[in-house]
Amino acid sequence: MTESDRSQGAPAGGHAAAHKPVVHRGRQPVRRPDIDTLFSINPDGSRNAIHPADVRGRFQRRKDLLWLVLIAIYLAAPWIRIGGRPLLLLDLPNRHFYLFGATFNAQDFWLSFFFVTGLGFALFVVAGLWGRTWCGYACPQTVFLEGLFRRVERLIEGPPAARRKLDEAPLRQRFPRRFLKVAVSLLLTALIAHSFLGYFMPVEVLLEAVTSSPAKHPAAFTFIVIATGLLFVNYTWFREQLCIAICPYGRLQGALYDSDTVLVGYDDTRGEPRGKEGTAGAGHCVDCYRCVAVCPTGIDIRNGTQLVCIGCANCIDVCDEVMQKLGRPRGLVRYDSQRGFETGQRRFLRGRVALYLVLMLLGLGAFTFAVTQRRPFEANLLRARGTTYTVDGGRVHNVLELHLTNKRPGPRTFHIAETGPPGAEVVIAMREVPLEPLQDLKVPVHVFVPVDRFRAGLECALTVRCEEPGGELVRVATAPLLGPSPR
Ligand code: SF4
Ligand code: SF4
Repeated sequence: MTESDRSQGAPAGGHAAAHKPVVHRGRQPVRRPDIDTLFSINPDGSRNAIHPADVRGRFQRRKDLLWLVLIAIYLAAPWIRIGGRPLLLLDLPNRHFYLFGATFNAQDFWLSFFFVTGLGFALFVVAGLWGRTWCGYACPQTVFLEGLFRRVERLIEGPPAARRKLDEAPLRQRFPRRFLKVAVSLLLTALIAHSFLGYFMPVEVLLEAVTSSPAKHPAAFTFIVIATGLLFVNYTWFREQLCIAICPYGRLQGALYDSDTVLVGYDDTRGEPRGKEGTAGAGHCVDCYRCVAVCPTGIDIRNGTQLVCIGCANCIDVCDEVMQKLGRPRGLVRYDSQRGFETGQRRFLRGRVALYLVLMLLGLGAFTFAVTQRRPFEANLLRARGTTYTVDGGRVHNVLELHLTNKRPGPRTFHIAETGPPGAEVVIAMREVPLEPLQDLKVPVHVFVPVDRFRAGLECALTVRCEEPGGELVRVATAPLLGPSPR
């Protein structure tokens, strides 16, 4: 942790040498963030709970709006239907997948490789251009933690100073507010967990599961209990540690940045040397410490760019407020690249970003192309399991199965007819097969060929037709026939 952070130590804005790990308030030493240790862990290994101060400002307003929209989408999406089908549903037990009006089944699973690869490289593009912007603005960890749980905490336990005081208060004093916070947080995490399950289970089934005995839906019940427990621990206790120590995207950032990546940084040329207002020779930083007080990961951005910075812009908003009050230009802490801080010049598109962009377009382009080229239905003629052939009354008898799958989002009727082999009698159990979206059916097919007409390489061929708005679709399904060797 500290090695990689140190390697990110002070390039893009920041003044590593100026940090003071310990200051004194009266006689009490107060620990301050430095670039060698995690502020959220005390020197004795215990947890140092971070209570970021409240923030107002232009970035905070944008985030508030964005979080509201994202949370609303997250809760509403499982309930939204397009043409009677779910907007987003990954029905794993039935292997039916609904994405924005398109329907997929297990045979389409290979498409997810291109989709996930494309999305992965999209995150690389974002990281190459703007660092951990995704983390600070749109990652579910941040959206729920900052947009929901910290607000609840503020409502119940008060501002950060009151929360810190409460942390140290005796249990008896803490209990009422802590109990209320735990109860509300549990309700919220249960709501998030249920909503998450709504992406994997049709909401009608989910509602039925919620209102019936756990014994009726043991898998759903177990999932909800575990997910609620994990989310509760994460959002009420583990918090920023997930972004700092566990998230692989966060760990990758050091490899995705370059000197033109736009990150949150401190303009040390303008800010140093720090000093109270009116101090002779002092820079613009008045060492008010507010940029540290609002940081949800407990870092001092003036120590330089650090991997644990999630790019949330809290420190920008609060420092802009300070600068405005002092009548100084805002932007002492701002979004800029290392090159921007050092030379005032910026480059947007670079080789590595272009490479990520090409890989992203390749992944998403291949996915889009493959989706548009998908067959609207599957018709596979296969030998019935465990059968070979029989000879009866001078005829060779093969038992086959036509496996039909409707991959269209609407119901379709399939018409089946035999086209070979010549001279054979083909008995099809159903010649008209109506199928609902993503429904599949195995239609038994019996083929009788006179023994004297049977030869090696003989095939049964069926034609399957389906009416589509754009015209009739036809597929031919074939399967080899088995029989006695010619004498
Ligand atoms: S908020 Fe701005 S002025 Fe205050 S300590 Fe941070 S950088 Fe300096
Ligand atoms: S340093 Fe600033 S941008 Fe980075 S996490 Fe802390 S408050 Fe957010």
